[in-house]
Amino acid sequence: TSEQFMKKPTNEPILEYKKGSKEREALEKALEEFANKTTDVPLRIGTEKITRNLDKNQVMPFDHKKVLARYTYATADDIKHAIEVGLAARGKWERLPLKQRVEIFLKAADLCAGKYRMALNATTMLGQGKNIVQAEIDAACELIDFFRFNSYFALQLEKYEPISTESSKNSLVYRGLEGFVAAIAPFNFTAIGGNLSGAPAIIGNVVLWKPSDTAVLSNYIIYQILEEAGLPPGIISFLPADGPTFGNTVCSNSNLAAINFTGSVPTFEYIWRKVAENLGNYTTFPKLIGECGGKNFHFVHPSADLTSVVIGTLRSAYEYQGQKCSACSRLFIPESLWPKFLEEFSKLHKEIKVGSVQDGSIFMSAVIDDKAFARIKAYIDHAKSGADGAKVILGGTYDDSVGYFVQPTLIRVTDFKSKLLTEEIFGPVLSAYVYPDAEAETLVTKIKDATKFGLTGAVFSQDKVFLQKATDILRDATGNLYLNDKSTGSVVGQQPFGGARKSGTNDKAGGPHYLLRFASPLTIKETF
Ligand code: GLU
Repeated sequence: TSEQFMKKPTNEPILEYKKGSKEREALEKALEEFANKTTDVPLRIGTEKITRNLDKNQVMPFDHKKVLARYTYATADDIKHAIEVGLAARGKWERLPLKQRVEIFLKAADLCAGKYRMALNATTMLGQGKNIVQAEIDAACELIDFFRFNSYFALQLEKYEPISTESSKNSLVYRGLEGFVAAIAPFNFTAIGGNLSGAPAIIGNVVLWKPSDTAVLSNYIIYQILEEAGLPPGIISFLPADGPTFGNTVCSNSNLAAINFTGSVPTFEYIWRKVAENLGNYTTFPKLIGECGGKNFHFVHPSADLTSVVIGTLRSAYEYQGQKCSACSRLFIPESLWPKFLEEFSKLHKEIKVGSVQDGSIFMSAVIDDKAFARIKAYIDHAKSGADGAKVILGGTYDDSVGYFVQPTLIRVTDFKSKLLTEEIFGPVLSAYVYPDAEAETLVTKIKDATKFGLTGAVFSQDKVFLQKATDILRDATGNLYLNDKSTGSVVGQQPFGGARKSGTNDKAGGPHYLLRFASPLTIKETF
């Protein structure tokens, strides 16, 4: 209950799914169930379930002839209707005592942890191409953590009591924003869909949730869980939609109160421009909260422990096919460590199994869709052509005949300005830049401003003085900096996540201040 969540929650334990275990059997059953049918996903507005057309398919990336779900795009009229329905529901929802909203999210967390854990994991695996571990840390643990920690953080907001005097009583009321919030979710983390929509809702907002086309089913399961947990109709609308139609419709509505976005830099910039165009029409100043791309680095100092560099880099670059915003895509490594690194890295690389998520032993599966496949392929081909002094060292092959498969690829790049070292690839492609040992500090200074991004980075060094120096030099260059650890895998409540510079507005999902972005506090002074 909400009382016990006045204490700091603990992170949801990660289940192991060992072969033959009860949880593994349950997961396999869920996988089979979802893989052998096509699930229809409706639009959800208020009490309505709209299943007209169902002309869009969500396919399985590792076997793209298989259709996991069918759905339909919301039209501009559907979106406008959802705004009306949301605004009509807002007053009552927003005035509920916070604890009542928190109870719904805590119940939802329990449903995710128990009854729906396997459905969340199975649909994330089949629809988004995650292996068991990658699904469990996302669709189960991170989602549950978001609901529980947001509940805790929301209750913390209300803890501060403004000072009252003998002649006046002062209070702060955490209202939801006036208007509606649009949540635009990515495919790569199921949990992020739940957080982009759930965090504003817990504060009392009404939300229009646009899931990614390639994560419709897992996101819809979250929607259904919230509904079962007691979320009243109209508070969140579930609206798969064409990006520009959704963006233009919400941005041209005078009641837009916030956009909570995770996706690419160009899309986020498009949203800012649309909001600027409509600025004179809004009731409030809409808040724009965004988490965008990255060009994340692992910087290896000559003193680094090589084993942790090898394992950390392999995991960060290739887990979930490199499709985490935080994935390592630039490796800076000294000449003295390069030969041994390559030897150890190659050994592990050889063992990487790439295949269908239904094979429980894979490390990687396919990338998300044809567009991603084409984009990643173009970067690999660029390297293969020898441009920018690039040389493909490991992997470099791809095949989309059955699924969108790209082999884990390591490229050595000698041109510091190469697009392989500056542009986001969002796939299993790692570019390594080998530097003379004596130039470690100079190079850190050079990479500080080498890209427009500022999401994650890692420095590996046993030399504490160097770590401190690098941390200081890189102060503005990332939102999440890891010392002697890989650049991926932030945990809610442990490493609040968000990027600086063009990587986003750095509002730190999974941290204590995120929710304030969705509140419009009211100060009341009553004089006696
Ligand atoms: N929080 C995730 C991580 O640390 C990345 C989130 C994202 O890809 O947007 O790996």
